[in-house]
Amino acid sequence: MTKERLAYLSLGSNIGNKLYYIVSAIQRINITNGVSVSKISSFYKTDPWGVKEQASFYNIALEIKTTLLPFELLRNLQRIETELSRTRELRWGPRTIDIDIIFYGDLKISIEELTVPHPRYRDRNFVLKPMYEIYPHNELLLKYMKRDTSKIKKIIPKILVSSCLLGENCNYKGGNNKSDLLVKLEDSVSYLRICPEVMGGLGIPRIPAEIKNNRVITKENNDVTDEFNKGASLALEKALKNNCSLAIIKGKSPSCGYGKIYSGDFTGNLVEGEGITAKLLIKNKIDIISV
Ligand code: ATP
Ligand code: MG
Ligand code: MG
Repeated sequence: MTKERLAYLSLGSNIGNKLYYIVSAIQRINITNGVSVSKISSFYKTDPWGVKEQASFYNIALEIKTTLLPFELLRNLQRIETELSRTRELRWGPRTIDIDIIFYGDLKISIEELTVPHPRYRDRNFVLKPMYEIYPHNELLLKYMKRDTSKIKKIIPKILVSSCLLGENCNYKGGNNKSDLLVKLEDSVSYLRICPEVMGGLGIPRIPAEIKNNRVITKENNDVTDEFNKGASLALEKALKNNCSLAIIKGKSPSCGYGKIYSGDFTGNLVEGEGITAKLLIKNKIDIISV
């Protein structure tokens, strides 16, 4: 561990659901011990660099605060790349996710395993442009940007999101599950807010419910499966109408839980499974990040 420093990262993806990979990487970086994401640039759609015959990229830049040493940070970013299925068959070839360290404080290192500042950032508008957004005091970024004539286009991706994660008081207790990271991300994306339980006609606050034998049953033993199904259909409709390929939803709940949900016995125990909305979204090929 060392004192906290600012570092700047460049992220890129051009395989599969690029938005899913970039947002998953941001989330994983933010929950890494000794790292917190402090600024997120806009999203950019960019032409491939180096190897031209491949799909276009999504690129963003991040400012992070970190107490990790440079090589510790690199290893953690490489771990996240691996977790997100990054492989390396071709230099500068297609990738689910690439996470490069552009600056680590004002440190200079020049060895093969880690060179900072990144050895090629000056030649890449897909790095310079998003970086300049979050680091406008660095005039060199602007100067170098003018040398690269390649075009990159700002985009505003649409993401379905559980309203409670943005601080809306709509969870069953009448409270929220606010995520500071997701609130920060709101400047770069367009959120389509959902609360399937409220959309399905249930009130705030409401009696807690869990899934048992494929039905959603409240703690007072009322069957609210119809309300949950209605909310799921409306959430899906919103996603499809907006061409949305990614949902960031609240984990464990009987509507939005993904991977793990409460067991149905109101004991706090978790079992493998999906909430009603999560299941419907997956069936319709909308990727999920569970928070
Ligand atoms: P480029 O570095 O030109 O953007 P790339 O990102 O596709 O290419 P990778 O396959 O991700 O390249 O990484 C190749 C090696 O680069 C890694 O093994 C890593 O150790 C090394 N490397 C050197 N400097 C850095 C840096 N600043 N950030 C990330 N990786 C770096
Ligand atoms: Mg790279
Ligand atoms: Mg890399």
